[in-house]
Amino acid sequence: MDNKFFQFNIFARCKEYNVPLRQCPQFLFVVMGFVIMISSIVFYLMGERYISDPRIVAFVVLAVAMTLLIIAFIITHSFEDLAEANRMKTEFVNIVSHQLRAPLTNLRWATQFLLSEEFKPSNEKENLEYFDIIKENGSRMEGLIDDLLTITRLKEDRLDNKRTKFSLSELTKEVISEYKTFINASNLTVELKPAKDLKNVSASYPLTKIVLENLIGNAINYSKGGGKIFIELKELTKKVEFQIKDNGIGIPMEDRKRIFQKFFRCRNAVKTEVYGTGLGLFIVKLILDGMAGKVWFDSKEDKGSTFYFTLPTN
Ligand code: ADP
Repeated sequence: MDNKFFQFNIFARCKEYNVPLRQCPQFLFVVMGFVIMISSIVFYLMGERYISDPRIVAFVVLAVAMTLLIIAFIITHSFEDLAEANRMKTEFVNIVSHQLRAPLTNLRWATQFLLSEEFKPSNEKENLEYFDIIKENGSRMEGLIDDLLTITRLKEDRLDNKRTKFSLSELTKEVISEYKTFINASNLTVELKPAKDLKNVSASYPLTKIVLENLIGNAINYSKGGGKIFIELKELTKKVEFQIKDNGIGIPMEDRKRIFQKFFRCRNAVKTEVYGTGLGLFIVKLILDGMAGKVWFDSKEDKGSTFYFTLPTN
């Protein structure tokens, strides 16, 4: 549906908020509009009758209309915040329950098999497969909960966001070494090229680590098994720019606008075996927005992607 038309379609907007009509901000605004019109007419008629100077009548009508308009604005604005919070809560519950359903079903299915008569304790190889399913789906749910907790803590300022000065290059090395096993298992090589005499960045150390873990993790995950990941650190005016380039599956053109949205995953990523929550880049953007940083990317489907971010040096 055309977006502009949708904005004016009160019933569609109210339905989207999922609240009763009497609590819907757009509907309330229309009602308040009628109230303002009627009261202006009533005050005009009363003023004409009791006040002889037409300028005073006009002034009173205008003052009443203005006061009511301000009240209407305040009321509808507060209802809009409430309605938006309600909409987000519903959306959040729907998405989370949907995301948890798949691993939970897999868990139930695998445990059901292990408890059934078909299960043969002697068939060690097959049994291991089922235990692997349980382990894999358990860690999926754990990953989802960790990401959701990070988002909640970030939004409530409960994560350590104290700025300190540190070397982005050293932190990058640390994260790469944490991923060493994963990098080797994926048949990848990682090259890090920091500019000479790079200044320290001024940011939160633990939050920057989360950013690096997500971007490096994605570059490994979405490389097609083998290839090279190239990381470069450059110094710009009053900031350091980080670039990570992979030659993986890339991002389809039509998905680009939505890449930083909560729970969004590109269709080519969903087709691969790689599991993801679609929360990593949302977290990256949330963190960098809060640290005067910026994040963006370039990509070509089937050729690879480069993600960039900047952090201030002062
Ligand atoms: P996920 O848990 O799915 O990796 P992210 O929020 O980190 O969630 O990323 C969102 C989506 O962006 C991914 O599902 C994937 O489709 C796409 N994406 C992110 N990084 C890359 C990359 N380096 N190469 C290709 N696609 C990527």
